[in-house]
Amino acid sequence: MLALTEAAIRRSLVNCSRSEVAAMTLPRDLDALDWAAIDVLGWRDPKAELRGYLVHEHGGRAVGLALRAADTTMSSRRSAMCLLCHSVQSAAAISLFTARRVGEAGRNGNTVGTYICADLDCAHRVLDVPPTALHLDEELQSLAVEERVAGLRQRLQAFTSDVLLERAWTGSFR
Ligand SMILES: [Zn+2]
Repeated sequence: MLALTEAAIRRSLVNCSRSEVAAMTLPRDLDALDWAAIDVLGWRDPKAELRGYLVHEHGGRAVGLALRAADTTMSSRRSAMCLLCHSVQSAAAISLFTARRVGEAGRNGNTVGTYICADLDCAHRVLDVPPTALHLDEELQSLAVEERVAGLRQRLQAFTSDVLLERAWTGSFR
């Protein structure tokens, strides 16, 4: 994705109020970030425990989503899959997040929910060779990574479309 300034990130948020945008804490080290390597900037708000954000390019512009994590965590003895990046991890590292839909629907409490990596760092996670491809040669490993990146991009677009009321996403938790 293209690098964004702090102001551009704040402007990108589509599903929260101005006061919520003003209260949001941005990730540190934005200048040090390798923007070209990632498809989405995701982070948890260090000052608001259950808040998190995803910012990515959608329809030719930067779109930021404010998310709220469930205040319960799943057992670390089970495993679970992030429905955005498809990483399988300990269930404690995956969280249920809800995003308010835009406009009136959102103001009336209408949300989209899904299971996502608790740290919202799907973008970096998909750059790792998946365990299922570790025994393959380098070329096949990089293909497997490309596939994960493409999958994340596609599911993220679908999730955002649902929040923007463009089209419903079947991966939603209902
Ligand atoms: Zn993920």
